[in-house]
Amino acid sequence: MPEGPSLYILKEQAARFVGQEIVHAEGNTWAIDTARLVGQPIVALHTWGKHLLIELPGLVLRIHFLLFGTYRIDERRDKPARLSLRMADGGELNVYACSVREIERTAFEAYDFSADVMSDQWDPKKARKKLRARPELLACDALLDQDIFSGVGNIIKNEVLFRIRVHPLSNVGALPAPKLRALVDEARQYSFDFLAWKKQFVLKQHWLAHAQKTCPRCDIPFLKANLGRTKRRSFYCERCQKRYN
Ligand SMILES: [Zn+2]
Repeated sequence: MPEGPSLYILKEQAARFVGQEIVHAEGNTWAIDTARLVGQPIVALHTWGKHLLIELPGLVLRIHFLLFGTYRIDERRDKPARLSLRMADGGELNVYACSVREIERTAFEAYDFSADVMSDQWDPKKARKKLRARPELLACDALLDQDIFSGVGNIIKNEVLFRIRVHPLSNVGALPAPKLRALVDEARQYSFDFLAWKKQFVLKQHWLAHAQKTCPRCDIPFLKANLGRTKRRSFYCERCQKRYN
C-alpha cells in the first residue's frame, strides 16, 4: 500500500457505511477521543491522495496512510488497530499503521480535490500551470509532489515516466509542451489503469518498469537509483527515456 488508487478502492468498499451510525469505536490512537465518535453517523467519505477523510456531523477525521498504512473491512489483522469503527449493520472499518487526527472544518474545506488524480474534480490545466511555475523541478520529484499529483506514488511515477519515455532526472521546464501534457495526462490515466488492474489482482504483471530488470523496449538492463530530492527508487532506461535539461 498505498497509492491513490488503493484508497479509492477503500472508499468504494466502505461506501455502504455512509449514512450508518458508529456503534463502537476503539483503537490505540492517542490523538482522538474514540468515545466521542459513538452515536455519530458517517455523513460522507472522501479521499485525497493517501488521506481518507471521514466526515461526521460534529467533526472530520483524517486518516493518513503514510508509507505502510493498511486497512481491513469486516475483518481484522492479528495486531491492534490504530482505529476500529463498528457500524450499525455489524460491519467494521479497521485501519493500521496510519496517522489518525481530527481536523478543523476549515482545514477540510481547504482540501484541493482538483489536485487529486482520482477525483472527478481533477484539473489537468491547473497541474500544468503548477509545473510551469517550477521549471527546475525534476520529473521524478514532480510526480511525487502531492500538491500537484495527489495520489501518485512511486509505482505510478516509474510507470508514467517509462510510458512517456522521459528520463526521471529531466527538468520539467525543459519538457516540450506535448511531453508536459503527456506527463499530466498519464499520471491520471495510469492511476485508473492501476485501479482496474489492482481490482483484478493483476497489477504486478502489468509493471513494465517498476521493480523490473530489463527494458521491454530495448532489451537492455534498467538502471536503478534513488533519484531526486525525494530519493525514492527509480527504474529507468537510458536508451529510450530521454533526458531533457
Ligand atoms: Zn529502453
